[in-house]
Amino acid sequence: MDRRKFIKYAGLASGSLALAGVSAGSFMAGRSKDSYTGWGRTPYGKDQFFNRVPFLVEKPTYQVAGKPERITYIENIFRRNAELYRLLINRHPEGLKWDKSQGIEGLPEPLKTYYTNHPSAFKEFFRAREKSKKQRANWEKYKDKYHLAEAWSRAHSSFLRGPAPFPVEPTGPPEEADYKGVNPNPLPLKSSEHGSKLIKKIAHSFGATLTGIAKIKKEWVYQGTLRGVGQVDFEVPKHWKYAVMIAIPHEWESFYTNPVYGTSYDAYSLLRFISGKLEVFIKEIGYSARSHVPPGQYDLVMPPLGIDAGLGELGRNGILITPELGGNTRLAAVSTDMPLLEDKPIDAGINKFCKKCKICADECPSGSISFDDAPKHVIRGFKRWEIDQDKCYTVWNSVATSHAKGCRICLAVCPYSRKNNWIHTFAREADSRDPTGLTSKAMLEMQKNLFDYPGANEYLPPPDGNNKTFGKPPDWLLTEEWFDI
Ligand code: SF4
Ligand code: SF4
Repeated sequence: MDRRKFIKYAGLASGSLALAGVSAGSFMAGRSKDSYTGWGRTPYGKDQFFNRVPFLVEKPTYQVAGKPERITYIENIFRRNAELYRLLINRHPEGLKWDKSQGIEGLPEPLKTYYTNHPSAFKEFFRAREKSKKQRANWEKYKDKYHLAEAWSRAHSSFLRGPAPFPVEPTGPPEEADYKGVNPNPLPLKSSEHGSKLIKKIAHSFGATLTGIAKIKKEWVYQGTLRGVGQVDFEVPKHWKYAVMIAIPHEWESFYTNPVYGTSYDAYSLLRFISGKLEVFIKEIGYSARSHVPPGQYDLVMPPLGIDAGLGELGRNGILITPELGGNTRLAAVSTDMPLLEDKPIDAGINKFCKKCKICADECPSGSISFDDAPKHVIRGFKRWEIDQDKCYTVWNSVATSHAKGCRICLAVCPYSRKNNWIHTFAREADSRDPTGLTSKAMLEMQKNLFDYPGANEYLPPPDGNNKTFGKPPDWLLTEEWFDI
């Protein structure tokens, strides 16, 4: 770097350091719910817009370390656990039988091979079940205290219990299902550029905070099961050309009070509606469409597609971190053959920041997040920080409001997961441009000194911890504020 540039960057960094001393109040105000997260600047300046243009890069920021491979459904913890659970309770859809006494040896494929290669995951499944049983029995003890949080979560997950979940699940092969309801007389689209602009506008009008477009590479398509068809190995359908990626945050106040007052389902339910409506819209204008939505209705892997679509980078905690929403980024997608232009990925220094930060690893109650300085773990041809999904799942089952809501501490504590104000806007913009590393150092010091981190075990119920939350619960989730308990 030449001297002039260095002085400029050093000035910027020392400016950040000076600001650090006087801005604690504003920094804390980043937790305020009164700021707006949106796509583009708002006239009143309280938005969470991040200008990606200076950070566009030619190659995605995940590290290719071998031959990219498709993920089989059995590598997804929820699908794997669901499969094992169905066998355990003797409700396998294909009538397969298995008894726990038969062990890994007696399991049908592909579970048998998976657990033979990952025996600790098999053990962890039963450990999680034990925790879950214990916590369900403990629920009596907590149900009054978390009465409101429970009602709030159940309201959000109710869409799963209805007679017709939305969006409607595909039936039949994609070549049929994705074309059901497609307008047979579409108008000619002016260009792919028009298509991209239009679809992003529409996605925002339906409630998406961020949208981006990625080409669907075959390594981002699950193998071994296909919605609408069943368990089958399949070639990626030719009409799965683009993924329109949609991102939204959780409600911020409850998000900060994970694990016990938060839920995944507030964001999940909204994503399902946004994605479902986008699917209908795309079909209405004449193209195939299929929603890929939480909690498990995916044929595509979300985080790498989010990276390809320029939404953000993969964090140490294994999730997509975006400059606007940080770890408070939940994803869905609509795959389509509509003519679109793919977005470029970004490198806004998030991955670099993760190398120093490690806050999520410090706070994780299961010790699932790697402390390695740089990613070392190679999975399906890509290098990333290792996450022990099975231990993580056990903590989901261990927290006081475990039965439906999970943990999400690593999302809430992430320094990128902050509501906007001038200092957060400054930090995002300055750190992404500061090659000296001084800004990130200052920001990290501020994070560690100005925010209270209870410590990994404290989030767990007694005797291991004290049901602590990262932030202070909002009064609307405090049962004791509204009910006599
Ligand atoms: S969700 Fe909780 S247990 Fe799982 S990795 Fe994050 S902090 Fe750890
Ligand atoms: S908490 Fe720190 S290390 Fe973890 S994902 Fe966020 S920035 Fe990266």
